[in-house]
Amino acid sequence: MTAEQVDVVIVGAGFSGLAAARRLTAQGHSVIVLEGRDRVGGRSWTGEIAGVPLDLGASFVGPTQDAVLALAAEMDCPTTPTFHHGKNVINWRGRTRSYRGTIPKMSPVVLADLARLRVQLDRLGRGIPVDQPWTAPDAARLDAMSLRDWMSSKRATRSTMDLMSITARVVWGADIGSISALHAALYIKAAGGLDRLLDVSGGAQQDRFLDGTQQIAQRVADELGDRVRLSRVVKQINRDERGVLVRCADAPADANTGTDADTDDDGHIRASTAILAIPPQHRAGIDFSPALPPEHQRLTRCWPQGRLSKAFAVYEYPFWRTDGLSGEGVSDTGPVLITFDMSPSAAGPGVLLGFVDPAHFDDEEPRVRRERTLAGFARLFGERARHPVDYLDQRWGAEEFAPGGPTAAVPAGSWTGVGPWLRKPLGPIFWAGTETSDVWPGYLDGAVRAGHRAADEVSAWLARPV
Ligand SMILES: Cc1cc2nc3c(=O)[nH]c(=O)nc-3n(C[C@H](O)[C@H](O)[C@H](O)COP(=O)(O)OP(=O)(O)OC[C@H]3O[C@@H](n4cnc5c(N)ncnc54)[C@H](O)[C@@H]3O)c2cc1C
Repeated sequence: MTAEQVDVVIVGAGFSGLAAARRLTAQGHSVIVLEGRDRVGGRSWTGEIAGVPLDLGASFVGPTQDAVLALAAEMDCPTTPTFHHGKNVINWRGRTRSYRGTIPKMSPVVLADLARLRVQLDRLGRGIPVDQPWTAPDAARLDAMSLRDWMSSKRATRSTMDLMSITARVVWGADIGSISALHAALYIKAAGGLDRLLDVSGGAQQDRFLDGTQQIAQRVADELGDRVRLSRVVKQINRDERGVLVRCADAPADANTGTDADTDDDGHIRASTAILAIPPQHRAGIDFSPALPPEHQRLTRCWPQGRLSKAFAVYEYPFWRTDGLSGEGVSDTGPVLITFDMSPSAAGPGVLLGFVDPAHFDDEEPRVRRERTLAGFARLFGERARHPVDYLDQRWGAEEFAPGGPTAAVPAGSWTGVGPWLRKPLGPIFWAGTETSDVWPGYLDGAVRAGHRAADEVSAWLARPV
């Protein structure tokens, strides 16, 4: 079989791979994007219930996320503010109460402790260079401990620990004990601070895309036309003095159902360079020849993906609004951890989104998952929440192909161990994906920025004198 020949082969048609492809194509380079799933968007995937488009993965966008906002504007995908009026609710230690603002109503001792820890977490990032965190003066000490260890060392109260644990499960898809303190501080700094990361007004949850985030990816893919190849799982990358030879296997008809990919070799592509726009963990699914250097191999194990699920219940109208509630809620009971109102309008339908802890959820059958989610919604918004007209959930950790999300849950020792290799090019191979961004890593914005950065690196490589 004759190999197709292009300047750049890009692995992954998430926001990062598509942004890289768009930039390189505009610069006149020939590009092919290979995507293992049967759809573009990656961790951005928009479903629909009751005629309402619902983001099963990435959903929100906020100030300073300029790269994704610019891309969305070019693709003519408008945003709408996240509904944020009225009181929020918290289900804590068996009681449900309402409160206003980002900080839940708790005892004055806990509130003071929370405020103190928030300031200290922000301060922790000050000395950390986001592009080289392993060079920070305190890097070795901070990377030797988990976020839990660091909070204990600051004598955080149990309630502060528990609230931060809920936050971590939603932000990283992992517990505070599984995240390096250096990574947490870096991640918060790269987002512009803890308020920017967690808030609705002025923060990362301020807006969402009217018709869902996947539409942005789909429109970029439409622009790229037959350069984007779906259901093509990259299995092998050989590199030599001419560049790379990439071999694929056909993915199953619906890669989201998770059946194993067909291993029949289905053609190969020769390219001068490759961009891998996939999470670091998933680099391990590709057979490299010659083999990746040991640091790159360790990196795939040091950057495991977190696990987070999302559940939606649809009601005739957003009944909680008539009770003066915003639909934003927090619970320490689980599996529903944090909720938002995703209703298209006050007239209806009403849509509650729950970020759901995968433990005691992902392995359950659909009926049990639905019951547990609705029980969680009912604890926050009352018994009416038990009777939706429709229900949908998405378990990112249970995906068989390219599982996990929202992003990598980077444990202690990773940054100081193998951080320098995260995006260090390997001859003609370049690395993108949101995890490699030093601004808004873990977000759509970081994905776009990383795609642009990798595209620029590739352009420079292609233009080098040989
Ligand atoms: C539940 C959840 C909620 C989130 N909420 C938000 C939010 O509100 N706002 C926000 O900004 N971000 C959010 N995110 C994070 C956001 O989705 C990601 O940061 C972003 O989509 C990552 O884009 P990417 O292109 O780097 O990677 P991905 O989207 O993961 O794209 C990588 C692509 O590569 C493909 N692939 C992997 N291996 C191979 C292979 N061997 N061969 C071929 N293809 C391969 C995958 O199928 C995938 O399509 C959320 C994520 C999740 C899961």
